[in-house]
Amino acid sequence: MITAEAFRQLTLSLQGTQTTLIAVSKLKPASDIEALYHLGQRDFGENYVQELVEKQAQLPADIRWHFIGHLQSNKVKYLAPFVHLIHGVDSFRLLSEISKQGEKCGRQIPCLLQLHIASEETKFGMDEKEMIELLEHYEAQRAQLGHVRIDGLMGMASFTADEEQIAAEFRNLRAMFELARQSYFLGQEHFRVLSMGMSGDYKIAIAEGSTHVRIGSLLFGQRR
Ligand SMILES: *Cc1c(COP(=O)(O)O)cnc(C)c1O
Repeated sequence: MITAEAFRQLTLSLQGTQTTLIAVSKLKPASDIEALYHLGQRDFGENYVQELVEKQAQLPADIRWHFIGHLQSNKVKYLAPFVHLIHGVDSFRLLSEISKQGEKCGRQIPCLLQLHIASEETKFGMDEKEMIELLEHYEAQRAQLGHVRIDGLMGMASFTADEEQIAAEFRNLRAMFELARQSYFLGQEHFRVLSMGMSGDYKIAIAEGSTHVRIGSLLFGQRR
């Protein structure tokens, strides 16, 4: 069950902020997505490849599907024909594979680099040094990577009640975004996405410059 009231409030609070709402529908039935679709929502986020492929096949074609989970290289081919944005790229190998599969589909696939900003060890993503290494690599081989496009960065803050810490982590991501933009993407308008903020911390993320918030439980209720 979706919470229509939560959706209305969220949409209202995002008005005027230039922030895109991605409704994270992982582990929720297609009927929930449809309900939100009928309220006007078009951007949806999923974490699991098979689940996303199944939902995409049965839901309206104008939904913009964001893949926000950890993506294995051997599964890129299933998403390549339709995915709107891949949020979690954290290796050059994955970036190359996305370009290869994009070429097969005759399209350029937009993606984000995932940075590790939380204090917890378990979350995926690169540190600043790894991001720069990847971007150096990318710069050197850009001619062969014409079917992938890097549109920005994504990150997840620590799971903590300490709002100062969360704000500092988002600020750090924003700083890395600026660094990447200035050093590698100056004048390239597509490099403009800063995907940060979830149900528990999206207000802080917006205050720190988020362009895309990924919100699940606030809209769809707790997951099993
Ligand atoms: C599940 C998930 C979300 C949504 O989390 P909520 O706390 O339910 O809003 C956002 N981003 C990523 C990467 C996720 O895996």
